[in-house]
Amino acid sequence: MQLFKRRQSSLGPNTATHVYQGGIPLHIVRGQGCHLYCSDGTEYLDCVNNVAHVGHCHPEVAQAVSQQLITLNTNVRYLHSSVVDFAEALVSTLPQQLQVCYYVNSGSECNDLALRIARLARPGATHVAVMAGAYHGHVSSLIDLSPFKFNGQGGGGQPAYVHVLPCPDTYRGLNLDGKAAARAAIEGAHAAGGKLCAFFCESILSCGGQVVLPKGYLQDVYREMRAEGALCVADEVQCGYGRAGSNFWVFETQDVAPDILTTGKPIGNGFPMSVLVTSRELAKSFSNGMEYFNTFGGCTAAGAAGLATFQVLRRERLQENAAAVGAHLLHRLSMLQKEHACLGDVRGMGLMQGIEIVTDPTSKRPDSKLAAELREQMAVRHHVLVAIEGPHNNIVKIKPPLCFSHKDADRLVDALSDVLASGKANGGC
Ligand code: PMP
Repeated sequence: MQLFKRRQSSLGPNTATHVYQGGIPLHIVRGQGCHLYCSDGTEYLDCVNNVAHVGHCHPEVAQAVSQQLITLNTNVRYLHSSVVDFAEALVSTLPQQLQVCYYVNSGSECNDLALRIARLARPGATHVAVMAGAYHGHVSSLIDLSPFKFNGQGGGGQPAYVHVLPCPDTYRGLNLDGKAAARAAIEGAHAAGGKLCAFFCESILSCGGQVVLPKGYLQDVYREMRAEGALCVADEVQCGYGRAGSNFWVFETQDVAPDILTTGKPIGNGFPMSVLVTSRELAKSFSNGMEYFNTFGGCTAAGAAGLATFQVLRRERLQENAAAVGAHLLHRLSMLQKEHACLGDVRGMGLMQGIEIVTDPTSKRPDSKLAAELREQMAVRHHVLVAIEGPHNNIVKIKPPLCFSHKDADRLVDALSDVLASGKANGGC
């Protein structure tokens, strides 16, 4: 309690917290694999943290970063193998045209840089298209591009230069036509006297509610956007890097290749780093005489963190694990869904999954109250941590470290099943 009070007085009052029973955030002091340990020794199963991609405090990543920090940590002005090795590793996973890397420090910085590159490449075009419910970052330029924020509490509404495509909803059969959505955004820009320079889209919409795009959706949207001259930016800050199981990058499942890829959270396994990847042509237009320098982006330790994380991901076959455990989890959740009408939709890819909580399967009305209660009860009674998200706050979000095992998946589903069956967390669902 004492620590929470000190935190409240020393950190900004709207700093995000994960609170459970008693209104106090968990006091986590140690992490290992998919497990977190509280100051009182209680263990929790972490089904939320997609940053600890290869597992909390993976010894090999920690060792690589520590070794680099006690040897040298400087910036990209100097020649060093670590940043080049990791850039090459990253590019080896990507389509041929994505070849040039820019190091930054966070997902927000990465998307902001994507916007800069797009505006330089498309002089005169200043408007941007995004998806409903999207979140692309916390800096001013990206609050503007994030309906999740500008339409939410404290938000200032939609800027005139931003055009929002409605989010496809396969569960309710709504907004599935990518071409129509793209055309409307393009025409909206024209009607406002502008032109689109870019279309930003997550390949699985995370804050949007763990939405898997319908087959061919991005192909249709990209075609329209490119005909307009807009660049297509794939934000894979959350969903990419092997999490989807079937593919390393989720845009591949849509049979498209973006003009700019933005990454973040998982690539340094918790070391604050991020990389933007683009084509030689766009990198050339960005090199307009102004030097690109970033004090911490591409520091020597970032290269070490990125490379070690990448090597562990490959050696421990964690993408394959995400596919196998993800399929098992999806299957078990689908079985549970048959017993509980409030589990309206179960969806996802690999270890990026969502459960849509509804009042009943006929109206499909979002039930945010029940979703919040499920999250609370799973944490308090079973020590299983899940998140709640989506525009109606009714999506149970599952995105654990990729070392999540079959046993962990079973524990998650058993906890949810118990909470639902006990009736404590629902009105008879
Ligand atoms: N894009 C997406 C899809 C995100 O989920 C986030 C972070 N939640 C960001 C961008 C911004 O990343 P960061 O918090 O590292 O700035």
